[in-house]
Amino acid sequence: MLAHFRFRNKEMFCEDAKVADIVKESGTPAYIYSKRTFLEAFHEFDSAFSGIDHLVCYSMKANSNINLLHMLAKAGSGIDCNSGGEFFRAMKARVDPKKLIFTGVGKTEEEIRYVLQHDVLMFKAESRSELRTINAIAGEMGKIAPVGIRINPDVDPHTHPYIATGLSENKFGIDSSLAFDAFALAASLPNLRIVGIDMHIGSQITDVDPFVEACTKMAMLTLELKKAGHNIKHFDIGGGLAIPYKVEKPASPSDLAKAIIPILNVIDCKILFEPGRYIVGNAGILVTKVLYTKKHKKKNFLIVDAGMNDLIRPSLYDAYHKIRCVSLKKEDTMIADIVGPVCESGDFFARDREICKCSQGDLLSIMSAGAYGFVMSSNYNQRRRPPEIIVDGDRFYVARERETYEDLISKEQLIDELIEKV
Ligand SMILES: *Cc1c(COP(=O)(O)O)cnc(C)c1O
Repeated sequence: MLAHFRFRNKEMFCEDAKVADIVKESGTPAYIYSKRTFLEAFHEFDSAFSGIDHLVCYSMKANSNINLLHMLAKAGSGIDCNSGGEFFRAMKARVDPKKLIFTGVGKTEEEIRYVLQHDVLMFKAESRSELRTINAIAGEMGKIAPVGIRINPDVDPHTHPYIATGLSENKFGIDSSLAFDAFALAASLPNLRIVGIDMHIGSQITDVDPFVEACTKMAMLTLELKKAGHNIKHFDIGGGLAIPYKVEKPASPSDLAKAIIPILNVIDCKILFEPGRYIVGNAGILVTKVLYTKKHKKKNFLIVDAGMNDLIRPSLYDAYHKIRCVSLKKEDTMIADIVGPVCESGDFFARDREICKCSQGDLLSIMSAGAYGFVMSSNYNQRRRPPEIIVDGDRFYVARERETYEDLISKEQLIDELIEKV
């Protein structure tokens, strides 16, 4: 996969649009996404598995802008969604519910009722009590709910502990030793129809081995469940394939395909995939401006106008993001901490990083910010969340506007009766 952020005459371009020109209009900080990059990543993933009956269901929690969702769906993607809010967005993006998987370890009754109004591909249930709840609500509504059961295969994905999900110590899925009981329960409930089995072992997994291990365990289990009479049509391997943030050389979709198709061929199921980061991670950048520079005893600081509220990955996971100068006209470099304006010492994007010798007003691009960027942003410190801009060739579109001050208090009001007597 080649991300379409390149330098021409020492100026950064996204596809054929000059990044400096885009932010001249939008202001900073701003998320900029390359349409060509996320569509190419989708097609690359999809075609790697062309030898097997499959559906790629983009995991929308990575980036849920409705324009991006609509374009991926149009390119043939299904959608993996995680909450009532994500389902609402998917519907607004005009995604076909028949290609939609409803995931989540803690679905509320309200969410189940909402999603059941549509004819979705499957609900992924993560506990016996959830199976009973979906059954009861489907019964009230006169519906039969298509369900897959998420199994925790107890495999170590060798990734950051916060994004490992397939170990038995994690909250996700049903313990594999209890899979038979869970399927038997689902089969006994009149308003459920078993359609699939599912796993998701973690995120930013660079190597195929954990996938091979988990697929092998799950394929054996699937064959046994089928022998016991369960009609498992969909085998969902979840997401988790890594992207390069730094110098990693993660396994590609075709590496993954080569390693797991032989295992998947024997189970005679449609294979579902839920990549998130792989599709959008390198399709986005966060552009920010240097507000101030300063020097403490030994350290240089670049204080930029984006903060941890805009992109939390460095603070939350100690994640590494490359940071590039939008203009490479200055040859000299410096070592600096690149920090935001939020009142927290954890508000940083990089520490002791070699970077072009910046001065006030220079633009920096935080790379690989397309996944788990904007979607994890907040209004902390009452900062307005940045715009999302989608580039298509030499044109660019504001796919979501920068928030306004009014947006910050749109759900609040002064309550006279409450505040009168103090
Ligand atoms: C987060 C998540 C994904 C996507 O993970 P990536 O690492 O972004 O590919 C897929 N499926 C489930 C169930 C998830 O929770």
